[in-house]
Formats: sequence, structure tokens, C-alpha cells
Amino acid sequence: MTRGRSGAGAWWRHRREDLLALARQEHPLYVYDAASLDAAAAAVRGLAAVDRSFYAVKANCHPGVLARFRQAGLGFECVSLPELEHLRAHFPDLPGERLLFTPNFAPREEYARAWEMGAWVTLDSLHPFRTWPDLCAGREVFLRLDPGIGRGHHPHVRTAGAQSKFGIAPDELDDAARLAAACGARVVGLHAHTGSGIRTSEAWAETAEFLSAAATRFPGVRILDLGGGLGVPERPSQSRLDLAAVDATLRHFKESHPGLELWLEPGRFLVAAAGVLLARVVQVKSKGDVIFVGLETGMNSLIRPALYGAYHPIVNLTRLDQPATLTAHVVGPICETGDILGRSRRLAPSEEGDVFLIANAGAYGRVMSSWYNLRPPAGERVLEAALSPPL
Ligand SMILES: *Cc1c(COP(=O)(O)O)cnc(C)c1O
Repeated sequence: MTRGRSGAGAWWRHRREDLLALARQEHPLYVYDAASLDAAAAAVRGLAAVDRSFYAVKANCHPGVLARFRQAGLGFECVSLPELEHLRAHFPDLPGERLLFTPNFAPREEYARAWEMGAWVTLDSLHPFRTWPDLCAGREVFLRLDPGIGRGHHPHVRTAGAQSKFGIAPDELDDAARLAAACGARVVGLHAHTGSGIRTSEAWAETAEFLSAAATRFPGVRILDLGGGLGVPERPSQSRLDLAAVDATLRHFKESHPGLELWLEPGRFLVAAAGVLLARVVQVKSKGDVIFVGLETGMNSLIRPALYGAYHPIVNLTRLDQPATLTAHVVGPICETGDILGRSRRLAPSEEGDVFLIANAGAYGRVMSSWYNLRPPAGERVLEAALSPPL
């Protein structure tokens, strides 16, 4: 099994010169590698048991990223009306059936607009059936169910269980069927998304089993949407999600449920490894035994380490070929103690002006950035495929 050894063999090692050139033009800067985006999309499209995949736009909504995935034939999963409108603005001719709307606590107007756009719509509570029956009348809907157990890399991303705000509880299914019938809505799909950053291959087949059991109450169900959550290795010791094994368990499920389509909504898996954050060193200081390397940006561009304790590999790209003899905390300039991108990292001795690379930053990076301290977050660029060297 391949392991994500601190970016050994990572795309950015081969594109170092191009990345340094980009960082001279603009910094701090997120860079997304087109070839990696295409490869990840091809891997998802290659899942034989999955009928349709919708990219979860919230992970990274850069238009250049979306364009690659549109090209690859993926649909788009949106959790808000502004996300749907973003897709519409960039791809006015995208058919509505390539849009899937899966919001949580969205206002009535957003559902109305999503249906006008021709998107697939998922309800994650019974409130719409109960209080907007006129809006739901005659619609095909998905219901988001809460399978009761959450999964994922951090409690904040486990999106199931009684304490989570997502989904319809299993004991409300009879009410759901009755209310749907009463307002004339047809439940054509069931959905569950249990969490994010899952690297065990059986998780989606288990979701499929759970949903197919619930589907006995809804005779019109023909689609099971198994959510996203496909994880990528974060720490060097972590193994990759075995996609072939995911596919095998889902094929097995389909053999016993031939009438059901399976859909997926991966976000992180498609973009995480394709993205890096480039930032210059602004100051180096030591306090006692502790050395701090300060970058020009921090949690205002990438909040994952502060929010989830997420681990991102960090290298000094300018001195990539030099031995890592320094141990330092890599920090940003934001006035918060939590503004640490990496603790006790082994690095090449670093100086003001060096370009640092924070890897695995393509998912939930720039989209979660802020203007805190009025420091602008990093810009974004897509790095196109390398030109072949002249003969
Ligand atoms: C966030 C989200 C996803 C994508 O999650 P990843 O972990 O990035 O794959 C998919 N579906 C829903 C409903 C989501 O909220």
C-alpha cells in the first residue's frame, strides 16, 4: 500500500521551478495542479459501481478547478444558493441535472430557486414537507437521513448522530413517508453523508446498506446517494483510501440491489493533494530553545491546523535540496496564539524571503479563509500541465 511519505514523489517536487516562478509574481498563493485534479477526477470516474459523482463545491470553488471537473464529466454538489449561482455564473449552459443541492437549514427561497434551476434537491429535515407543502408538491426529492453514527478525522466533521444538526432521524421515517405523500412529493433518492476524511473502504457500502433498508418505506426510491467523505492521507504514517476496495464493496452491494443507482459526492478527495499554499518567510526568531519561522500568511489563508489540529506537510521550497537540520514552529502573522501552521517541524535552515510550501492544502483551504487582521488571504492559480521538453 502506498503511503503519503511527507510528499515524497509529490507533484510539487517536479514542478518546483514553476512554483517558485509563480511565487515571484504573486504571494502568498494557493496553486492547484491541473494534472493532479484530472487524475483524481479520473480515479473517481473509474469507480464502476458508482453511477454518478458530484464534486462537493464547498471544498474548493475556484473556477479553474470547477472547469477541470466539468470537463471530466462530474456533476456538482452545492450546499447553498450562492454555490449554485456560482456554478450558473461560470457555466451558464450546464444542465440542471448536473447540479445537486444538499443544504442544511436553508431558507425556503433557496429550495425554490434550486428547483427553478433544475437541480436535484435533498431535504435534510421534515420542515419543508410540514410548512411548505405547496413548494414541495409534485417535486422529486432526496431525503438526507442520519445513520446514527458519524465518522471522520475530527469531531467537527462527523455529521451524524443525535448531537449533529444534519439529517432526518431514523425514527422519523414513517412521518417522512406520510408527509411526502400528503404534499404530493415523490421521494426518489435517499442520502447520507456521515463525515469527512474517511479512509476505511467499507464505509460507503455500510451507508448503502443502511439506506437500502430505509428505502423499503419509500417505493419510489431509485437512487442512493452515499455522500462524500473520501479521505486522503494527512500524516506521513497514514495509508491511502483503497478506492479499488471501495468499488469492490459497492459492486457487491449492487449485485444484491440491482434496481438502485449509487451516487457519490466527494470533495476533499478530488482537490486536497492537488493544492499547495506558497508563502514567504518574513521573520525568524527564537525564544529560549524554541525557534519560530514566521510566514507572511497563516490562519487567515489556511485555518485547518488551528480549527482541527490538521497536519500539513511543510517544506522550504527555496532550499528543498538542503538537509532539514532545523526544528521550528511554522507560524503566521495573525494575532492569535493558535496561528500555527506546523509544530516542531524539521526544516532546512530558513531565511527571510525563502518560499515555504504547505502541502495537501487544496481542500477546505482558501474557501475557509478570512480577512482577519485585515490581512488578505492567499490568491489562487491553476498550474497547467507541464509543456513537454523540446526534442
Ligand atoms: C461537505 C460535504 C461533502 C464532501 O465532503 P468531503 O469530505 O470533502 O468529501 C459531501 N456531501 C455533503 C452533503 C457535504 O456536506
